[in-house]
Amino acid sequence: MIQKKICMVGTFGVGKTSLVARFVRSIFSDKYHTTIGVKIDKKQLVVEGQEVTLMLWDLAGEDAVTQVRPVHLRGAAGYILVADGTRSATLDAAIDLQERVAAALGDVPFIFVINKADLREEWQVTDASLESLSQRDWSYLLASAKTGEKVEQLFLDLAGRILKQTHGGPASALDAANA
Ligand code: GDP
Repeated sequence: MIQKKICMVGTFGVGKTSLVARFVRSIFSDKYHTTIGVKIDKKQLVVEGQEVTLMLWDLAGEDAVTQVRPVHLRGAAGYILVADGTRSATLDAAIDLQERVAAALGDVPFIFVINKADLREEWQVTDASLESLSQRDWSYLLASAKTGEKVEQLFLDLAGRILKQTHGGPASALDAANA
C-alpha cells in the first residue's frame, strides 16, 4: 500500500481544515475551530487503478502569519497552498509560503487552491492575480469546501501528480514488476 503525506499550507481561516473535512468526511461546518498545532487525517483512494493512502497534515495555528515549521513538512510528497478568495492578502501569503515550503521540501508537486468559490461575488482575488499564477506555471483551482466544488479534484489531481513523480505513473515498468 502506497502512503503519501500531503501538507495543507496557508494562513488562518482560509479553509484548510474545512477542505480536509469536506474531502475526508463529506462534511462542512460554519463553526470556526482554530486549529492549534497539527491535525492529521487519513483518506484512502484509488488513483488510476492504484490504491493510495493520503496522510493529510493540516498545518494550522503554527504562527499567526505565515510560518510553517520545517519539522512538520518533513517527508511530504506534495502540498496544497490554500488562499481565501475573499481576502487577497491570503493569496500573497500563500505565494510567499510556496517559497519557504519549496526551500524545505524541494521540487515536489503542489497545487494552489483559492477557496470559498461559493462567495464569488465577495472575492477580492482578481482574475489578474490568478493569471499571475498561470504565468509562473503554477496549477490552481477555485474550490469551495462549503459546496464541495472542485474539492475531490484538488486531492485527486495532486495525488496523481505525486504518483507520477515518485513512481513514474501506474503504468511504469517498476509498478508492473511489483504487481
Ligand atoms: P483554516 O484556519 O484554514 O483551517 O480555516 P477553516 O477551515 O477553519 O475555515 C475558516 C472559516 O471559513 C470557517 O468559518 C469556515 O466555516 C469558513 N469556510 C471554510 N471554507 C469555506 C468555503 O468554501 N466557503 C465559505 N463560505 N466558508 C468557508
